Amino acid sequence: MFGLIVFIIVIIVGLKFYFDKQKRIRNFQMPADTKQLLLEHVAFYRNLSDEQKLIFETRIKDFLQHVTITGIGTVVEDIDRILIASGAIIVIFGFPGWRYNNISEVLLYKDAFTEDYKQIGNDRNILGMVGDGALQRQMILSQTSVRESFKNLADGHNTVIHEFVHLVDKADGAADGIPEYLLSRPYTIPWITRMHKTIEEMKQDEHRDINFYGATNDAEFFAVISEYFFERPDQLKTHHPELYKLLEQMFHPL
Ligand SMILES: [Zn+2]
Repeated sequence: MFGLIVFIIVIIVGLKFYFDKQKRIRNFQMPADTKQLLLEHVAFYRNLSDEQKLIFETRIKDFLQHVTITGIGTVVEDIDRILIASGAIIVIFGFPGWRYNNISEVLLYKDAFTEDYKQIGNDRNILGMVGDGALQRQMILSQTSVRESFKNLADGHNTVIHEFVHLVDKADGAADGIPEYLLSRPYTIPWITRMHKTIEEMKQDEHRDINFYGATNDAEFFAVISEYFFERPDQLKTHHPELYKLLEQMFHPL
């Protein structure tokens, strides 16, 4: 009897959760000035054809319908929603049917934070992270960093792209720098070999053009080099043609 009651309660809670979500999706409205915000702040969008722009808009809307963005100690503004969704979709734009199934919420902190999620103190140096354990299906981003990421393409740095690349990497079960869904078999070994060679070169070269954080481990290398790929493709192609080619095979840019 007790078991039956628990079962019924679970079903009711589950149904409520499902219908609340459906209602939220139905009622969701994009900001009235979405197009304007995209044109002003997202270079990737500006460079798309009219037809592709419409597809991009549909995909960021779909993203925002399914992923909640919650401010922690800060107010989430339309520009934050647009930039976060844009970074997410830029990464998977080459894959028409793709969605992020491993995230349901982005927590937006005002600024950098510590490893144990503190927003105060001098040792705050984290700008974004993909959640694990209790934060499974969540991502944390710094609002300041989200906005900076899209202001400056020249630095090849974009925190939003970085974190969503980790999610794509993690989709096969492990964030290990080997995105199995993106890499067709013949390219896996060349990718691992090139990645390890480049990490070694970065450690030897004081004048490296790749952010040294990428030498931390394979997962960080993949995230850092992908930022470079999406922000400065021409420069990456000139300096690292082999890496560029492999990333092109993965992301299918337009
Ligand atoms: Zn990272």
